[in-house]
This record gives sequence, structure tokens and C-alpha cells, in this order.
Amino acid sequence: MSDERVFPGPSPAQADTLNAWRELFESKHSEDFTSLKGTDCLEQPIFPFEVDYRDIDRNDVLSLYFNEIPEKTIELANEVLRTMVAEYEVSDIRCILRPLCLPPERTKSISSLRMRNRGTIVSTVVRIKDVGPRLGYLQEALYECARCEYRETVKQKIARERMRPEGPCQDCFDKAMKTFEGKIPYVVYERLKSSMKLTAEGSFYKDIQYLSVSDIDDSSAQPIWVVIDDEYVDTYKIGDTVRINGVVQIDPVPDRNFMKDTRRILQIHAFSIESL
Ligand SMILES: [Zn+2]
Repeated sequence: MSDERVFPGPSPAQADTLNAWRELFESKHSEDFTSLKGTDCLEQPIFPFEVDYRDIDRNDVLSLYFNEIPEKTIELANEVLRTMVAEYEVSDIRCILRPLCLPPERTKSISSLRMRNRGTIVSTVVRIKDVGPRLGYLQEALYECARCEYRETVKQKIARERMRPEGPCQDCFDKAMKTFEGKIPYVVYERLKSSMKLTAEGSFYKDIQYLSVSDIDDSSAQPIWVVIDDEYVDTYKIGDTVRINGVVQIDPVPDRNFMKDTRRILQIHAFSIESL
């Protein structure tokens, strides 16, 4: 533990990515924001913000980071969208980046996916074999210090143990540093750490759903799971044929007991779905 816990602003790479997304949205999608104005009574407070993948590919910064760290890069896009929604005074709508029209070289079959493909972006045409239940997943947990007002948001991962703040309450920690003249006893430090409590209000849940999918032309092929979220949840049914664009991942729970076959350890986290 270092004496100084700093909360840095975005790294240079992040700042470049944020700027590049903003430029893309401003140059190509200003009409989307204009049309969103006054649509705050939509039943679904989610707007799928469809972006042509070729626009991403043409931008040096975005194509680099989108391919290298796709999930983080999408997260940053959604952050820019959140800010721009506020700037355009489009109330109560959450825009979610949905990149579409991936180039043909991204197209892969499910049966061709291997461990080496993890972390890569694929586009795959599949038939839906099974649809799991709608699940609420805690995406951002808000922790509050029981002693003071200090709050900290901790991003969470799907199907993993809940993450707590790394350290104690920053304000109480600073106070204790003064009181103990820079040498905080271990018990005091542990007590400060446990003072951060999860709050229900302010924590952010999102809907996800698992789809079991396989290649369309091979009914005996091994299916894999696709994780879908937000507006895609409860949209698809068994037998549907769709194009899934997403990132190949390792299933974090390979021995989940409702899955009899533990070989299915690759999954795809979909960032967009095209109905065919
Ligand atoms: Zn505190």
C-alpha cells in the first residue's frame, strides 16, 4: 500500500480514445442526438447507438484500441455517449454503442473458435439453440463509508465474485494519517477498510441473458454460450438465425452445474446482434 492513493484522470491512451469517439459521434452522428431530443417518454430508456464498424476501422486510434482492448474501448464510447446525451439535453436515455457491419475477415464459424481466439473480435452467423433466463447483473457497485459520506464506485464483472474497493475510505484514511502521524496501526487500517459498505441505491444493475448457439449448417456441432445485454434481452427465441458480433472470452464458470459439458469453455460477449 502506498501512502498516497491518487485517482488519476484518464491515461493518454484513454484520453485519445475518448477524443476519437467524440469526433466520430460529432461528425457522423449529430443527427442521432438531434432526433433523440424530446423522446424521453420512450418505454425503453435504452437507445442502441448503431455505428458502422468501417468508421471505427478508418480511425487509427479507434481501430488500434478497438482491436486490442475491445471491451474497454466500448466502455469509453459509452462514457462519451453518456456525456453527449447530457450536453444535448436528451434526458433519461442511455445510449449504447452497437458497432455493425464488420468486415468479412472477421467472420468465423463457432466450430472454428479456439482458445487462441480469446480477446478477439468475431462476427458469426448462428442458430439459437437455447435461451437462458433474464439475469440482473451488478455492473457498478456503489460503496459508502459508514463513518463519513465518502463514496466509491467499483466496476464488476459478470459471473465473478463481487469486487470491493481496494482500500479504505479515502477521507477517513487521510484523517487517520494525520492522527497517527503517517503510521496507521494495522487494526485501524482494517477497520477503515471494513467501513466501506455496499449501498443498494446508486448501484447499477444491467440485464443480461445467455444464449446457447451453434453454427447453422451443422446441427451436431458443439454449441457455445453468448452473453447478450440490455435491449437484446428477451428479444430472441429458439430457432432464430442471427449474426452475433462480439468478443471471444473464456467462460468464467466452466463447471456451472446446469452445463453438463465442461468442454464449452469459450463464450462470446456480444456487442451487437443483427437479425437475419
Ligand atoms: Zn470515511
